[in-house]
Amino acid sequence: MSDFLLQLGQNAQARRVIKALGLPVPIPQSLARARGPWEERPLADRTIVLGGLGTGRMAAPLARMLAEAGADPVVIGDGAALAAFQAPGEAFGRPARAAQLGELPADKVHGVVFDASELAEPAALRALYEHFHALAPKLAANGRAVVIGRPTATARGAVEAATRAALEGFVRSLAKELGKRGATAQLLVVDDGAEDRAAGVLRFVLSPRSAFVTAQPIHVSLTAAGKAVTGGVRSLEGKVALVTGAARGIGEATAQLLSAEGAHVVCLDRPDDDALVSKVARDLGGSVLLVDITAADAPAKIAAELKQRHGGVDIVVHNAGVTRDKTIGNMSAEQWEQAVDINLGAVTRITTALLGGVLRDGGRIVCLSSVAGIAGNVGQTNYAASKSGIIGYVEKLAPELAPRGITVNAIAPGFIETRLTAAIPVMIREAGRRLSALGQGGLPQDVGEAICFLSQPAAVGVTGNTLRVCGGALIGA
Ligand code: NAD
Repeated sequence: MSDFLLQLGQNAQARRVIKALGLPVPIPQSLARARGPWEERPLADRTIVLGGLGTGRMAAPLARMLAEAGADPVVIGDGAALAAFQAPGEAFGRPARAAQLGELPADKVHGVVFDASELAEPAALRALYEHFHALAPKLAANGRAVVIGRPTATARGAVEAATRAALEGFVRSLAKELGKRGATAQLLVVDDGAEDRAAGVLRFVLSPRSAFVTAQPIHVSLTAAGKAVTGGVRSLEGKVALVTGAARGIGEATAQLLSAEGAHVVCLDRPDDDALVSKVARDLGGSVLLVDITAADAPAKIAAELKQRHGGVDIVVHNAGVTRDKTIGNMSAEQWEQAVDINLGAVTRITTALLGGVLRDGGRIVCLSSVAGIAGNVGQTNYAASKSGIIGYVEKLAPELAPRGITVNAIAPGFIETRLTAAIPVMIREAGRRLSALGQGGLPQDVGEAICFLSQPAAVGVTGNTLRVCGGALIGA
């Protein structure tokens, strides 16, 4: 289905007429998205302005990642932080430039990063204000703002914890201000010692692959065993991925993206969807698995297929899901059962079966939740219960599987343009699109990109998280 306002905004003449007439029509910015697989230099020639680095431990991994990714870094400050940029800058022929806030380039900048990880008291937050006060107006359409902080749990006292917590409110508000330009803002909450792992996450959030991810903290930890990897091309070469519900929508987009990074994708869907899912698998040289995930023998069947035909599995994407909307008094037991069993029960049973020697060490589990699981929705007690259940599931499972280097995360999509949302009444659908910082619905590709990122070696620092892909939904985020 098409988004009329987005189409209107792509017509320069229509945009001019709306502006000239002063009409109160909020035309959303069309989002710049990546095409094709991850490139060697995803930030090629993008100006990224960095501040607050001081002597902080983030400077060195950041400098390396930006040089490798082809960015053009500008470091604000007295030059002390520039030292970290020198060696990688020379190695990749991309020397960083130093600048003061008052003497920035006149051109728009692609990215603005502020390292707030050393801030310890409220008055120090002033530096954050000054950085974004000067730079937010300079951020280009589809630009990226990132703040780096530390967890409140490890603060040395309540005052430091308050300062760290302040960063979240700042970023969520900034995201809402930047959204109409198609720009995003995130907070990376980095555990002590996890700085190298944060660089890989930063590469994703600065890239066009995070087009619909905004207004949220992403926790980067040392929890899962494994070494920090920043990026790389075809990083899923040799891996086997299972995607449930791969016949259409988010599952289909995810299967395509995982395959483009080199994975062999096993595309699972219901036997009724044989034709559709077979076409998806054929087009990307993957395999087909026809199973109803709620069938009693489904976990054993899936485990046996993956073990016997593929020797095991490395990436499991629990994407299959349904809505069975009714207010609680009108909901049949069958509607309750279906939503809870497909979206949650089957996920837990299949995961348990795969953990019995099928999912390999260093593996990745990604489960589809929803912003409905965070905020709740009228008519979705069953769906929201299943989707918040997923959040609790990944939080508990992540530390259990961490010693094996397996990460477990949830993705919470907001309003995504699929048949699931096409079925929503028109006015509610319109509200779902507009009530977000970016003022539009996301595409299945946006969710697929986030799933694909979490499946990569570069995401070893992210586990037990719920990553929202919701364009900064104003409700429930
Ligand atoms: P979709 O309806 O387009 O696709 C879901 C797929 O799951 C279908 O191909 C379907 O056949 C399959 N499936 C359903 N029950 C199954 C079963 N018992 N066994 C095997 N396969 C089964 O949905 P979508 O919009 O692509 O959603 C994918 C996931 O994302 C779901 O978990 C959904 O809850 C979640 N989600 C979607 C949105 C959105 O806006 N579209 C928002 C939040 C969360």
